[in-house]
Amino acid sequence: MVFFQAVKPEFTIFAAIINRSNYRSMKKPAKYIFVTGGVTSSLGKGILAASLAKLLQMSGYRTTIQKLDPYLNVDPGTLNPYEHGECYVTDDGAETDLDLGHYERFLNVPTSQANNVTTGKIYETVIQRERNGEYNGKTVQVIPHITDEIKRRLSLIGDEGKYDVIISEIGGTVGDIESLPYIEAIRQFRYDYGEEHCLVIHLTLVPYLQAAGELKTKPTQHSVKSLLQSGIQPDILVCRTEHKLPMEVRTKIARFCNVTLDSVIENANASIIYEVPFLLAKEHLDVVVMRKLGMKKKTEPDFSYWKNFIATMKNPSDEVTIGLVGKYVELHDSYLSISESLTLAGPRHELKINIEWIHSEDITVENDDRLLGHLDGILVAPGFGSRGMEGKILAARYARLHKIPYLGICLGMQIAVVEFGRNVVGLADCYSTEVKEKAKNPVIYLMPSQKEVTQLGGTMRLGSYNCNLKEGSKVQLAYGEKKIQERHRHRYEFNNKFQKEFEAAGMQMVGHNPETGLVEIIELADHPFFIATQFHPEYKSTVENPHPLFIAFVKAAHVRKESLSE
Ligand code: GLN
Repeated sequence: MVFFQAVKPEFTIFAAIINRSNYRSMKKPAKYIFVTGGVTSSLGKGILAASLAKLLQMSGYRTTIQKLDPYLNVDPGTLNPYEHGECYVTDDGAETDLDLGHYERFLNVPTSQANNVTTGKIYETVIQRERNGEYNGKTVQVIPHITDEIKRRLSLIGDEGKYDVIISEIGGTVGDIESLPYIEAIRQFRYDYGEEHCLVIHLTLVPYLQAAGELKTKPTQHSVKSLLQSGIQPDILVCRTEHKLPMEVRTKIARFCNVTLDSVIENANASIIYEVPFLLAKEHLDVVVMRKLGMKKKTEPDFSYWKNFIATMKNPSDEVTIGLVGKYVELHDSYLSISESLTLAGPRHELKINIEWIHSEDITVENDDRLLGHLDGILVAPGFGSRGMEGKILAARYARLHKIPYLGICLGMQIAVVEFGRNVVGLADCYSTEVKEKAKNPVIYLMPSQKEVTQLGGTMRLGSYNCNLKEGSKVQLAYGEKKIQERHRHRYEFNNKFQKEFEAAGMQMVGHNPETGLVEIIELADHPFFIATQFHPEYKSTVENPHPLFIAFVKAAHVRKESLSE
């Protein structure tokens, strides 16, 4: 309630009148769906948003999802993966929350800078405006200035005219101090923009108490109450539960939380996240959403591809084991897009993919056989800094010597180059300058464009760049084309001074950036599948289009497995 008192009435009412008449005159304003979370974190707001978006997309609506993160970091690029999981990169080079990866994998449509807003970004903009004197000497406050900036960011994505529906997911849990400005901004936005074009879905938990033998609705009631205190009545309640929601529980929730009975949606645990759209469709979430927003199905959803894909996932003909070597393996979310890309590629060859998480610091010359010998494929993950680097180098060496299919991503390419330089080309003191600045043979070094950079956030080589593939190479066969675009996130690169020597020794440079000549892909001539990329293929793998390199990699792993069992 504090927020309502703090509002300067003349300002917001004036702004609201302007906004309302503007939006009212728009012929077909985009629809906004806000997804908030209650009771506890980790209920899966991202998967809910992505699943609903998929259902609406299948019904013929151009849908996108925006994530509003209430932390003060400008973006997650500077966050340690242990803090927040992987940092996902968009085509236009934004370092974003990992939920954007879910959005792209489900929707098969790229996201951009505008799809991820953080409190840090909001404050950065407002403070910059204040420094430029744009507030004409007024006191700059959370309300209205921060909330106005949140509303502006919400509008921006709709004003592009590219989307019929925008789903905005609010990070955190209702009741957190840091989400309050977002909740207030939604309240105002709904009024300004028109209630008929906005919908609030609240994701909540309905826990089962073993001792009482009952599902409990009180946490949901309290969390809705907390939303009501901030002036928002949710339209739909999606209830995470480990048990079926009986009718009396649904009725109770509907009655005590002021929603219609069909707006209480069960969100049961799913063994595969890609099944969630179907489970929610069974609960008619899409139907209720469309009815409330005055939308009609434009096309009959065609689930056939997704159904086949899930059926194959559940009934594979064989399985392969891939070792994922990284230094943040304790938190699997640190490598979310990589593990999902493997999982998504499996069904293309009717394979189930088992991932073995291997800590790079654990690998030594003494135990490499035990840790790596049984694997069908080895993937060395991206990373920064020196910790675990030697273990990664040993993993690449093991894959090369034992002809185990290898996929190296970003740092996974750089360490493969170091290993080859040391052990095949025979270069002494061969390293990446990221670890050893004065190495005699700096086969990986800082890109010239990075030399003057001192600020950490948003300064790497980021986003989509062109790459030309060498005709007849393994990667070119995998892609089936000669020109590709892939996303990047790095500061170091292959030192082209060594290219001739490496090629003569059997490491082919098979992908180059046509504008700068940077090496983007290497592969070994004398190996069934040893491919490593400076870019991140995992950011472009989706349910409908698993990435060609992952498809080729899991296939190679299976071929090896079969050949060993013959
Ligand atoms: N640390 C390396 C670089 O900055 C690799 C980065 C990565 O793996 N994303 O070039």
